[in-house]
Amino acid sequence: MFVLVTGGSGYIGSHMVFSLLEAGHDIIVLDNLCNSSELSINRVREITGKKILFVQGDVRDRKVLNKLFSDYDVSDVLHFAGLKSVGESCCHPLMYYESNVAGTVVLCQAMAAAGVFNLVFSSSATVYGDGHPMPLHETLPTGSPTNPYGRSKLMIEMLLEDLTDSVHPWSIALLRYFNPIGAHESGVIGEDPLGVPNNLLPYLGQVAMGRRECVSIFGNDYPTLDGTGVRDYIHVMDLVEGHLCAMQAIHKSSGLRVWNLGTGRGYSVLEVIHTYEKISGCNIAYRMAPRRPGDVAACWADPGLAAKELGWKAKRGLNDMVRDAWYWQKKNPYGYQIS
Ligand code: NAD
Ligand code: UDP
Repeated sequence: MFVLVTGGSGYIGSHMVFSLLEAGHDIIVLDNLCNSSELSINRVREITGKKILFVQGDVRDRKVLNKLFSDYDVSDVLHFAGLKSVGESCCHPLMYYESNVAGTVVLCQAMAAAGVFNLVFSSSATVYGDGHPMPLHETLPTGSPTNPYGRSKLMIEMLLEDLTDSVHPWSIALLRYFNPIGAHESGVIGEDPLGVPNNLLPYLGQVAMGRRECVSIFGNDYPTLDGTGVRDYIHVMDLVEGHLCAMQAIHKSSGLRVWNLGTGRGYSVLEVIHTYEKISGCNIAYRMAPRRPGDVAACWADPGLAAKELGWKAKRGLNDMVRDAWYWQKKNPYGYQIS
């Protein structure tokens, strides 16, 4: 039996593929390569010495999916494929609704036709919206995400919930990620954003490497310890290990399950910058800039439910995350393209 990993050549997907292979699973990756390269999969092949079937295709393409499900016996689908830039989603909302929401609809239609009902979905803490006291627990009502990307995640959560109330025996996990960062400790796979990074960690890496002059801190007047935004950063390897636990857990019964994947601890932008300086030994120039539209002051998880129900807990701390992000950055200054 195969595990299908959609978006498997992307940042989180490639780490997932590594963990699944190590756990003994046979893998098929489906990715249209709109935000990644097959080089990441080649790297995973190299470090594991294992076989990975790769299909270049789109989750919106029913023909590709039908062929894939008829050619291979798939037991589980881990659905990472989608677009993830908040700014881009504001400029091109239809692109986001089509890729993320319509893509999930087509994927689920193909799964149902093939009799595959186990699905783990990459959701986000953004579905909680703003205004809740921290930490965020799964029992809180979802809120109003401030951008089309976040709304696409919330819509998908709602449509997947509807599936679990339908005639088919769906077993679905909604995994709400906090802030995944870091890289596999080998430095062989990692985050490789195209163009100017939107996220803090890859930006810091490029400043440390001298590729960019300084990082803008988006807001220093938040009601936090030092005025800068606070986030629950989670090591990408901890995150993918959480998926392995969730995949096993949903086999026990049908229905919808929701788990936060976070550490339960928040760090400010300044704390992250100082940690990066300490670990890399590089000076990171920064300047204060206005708040970024759509950002919340602080966000961290209550990870208790995943600990209780999945026996999963993030093991790696901020130093480990930054050390591994920096190691990847140093070994691959220009990502996968030029080594
Ligand atoms: P990523 O862009 O590196 O990976 C997504 C992959 O999906 C890419 O390889 C891309 O080529 C592929 N893809 C996109 N649209 C596709 C389509 N229509 N058909 C087939 N393949 C397609 O992003 P990531 O950081 O690895 O994120 C993976 C998932 O996790 C995404 O759904 C994202 O929204 C979600 N997520 C990410 C974060 C984060 O901070 N990285 C946080 C919360 C949730
Ligand atoms: N941030 C920043 N400068 C940057 C990128 C991000 O100050 O160049 C801040 C952002 O405002 C937030 C935190 O860093 O407080 C994490 O942002 P990121 O984009 O990495 O993740 P998000 O929480 O938005 O998903």
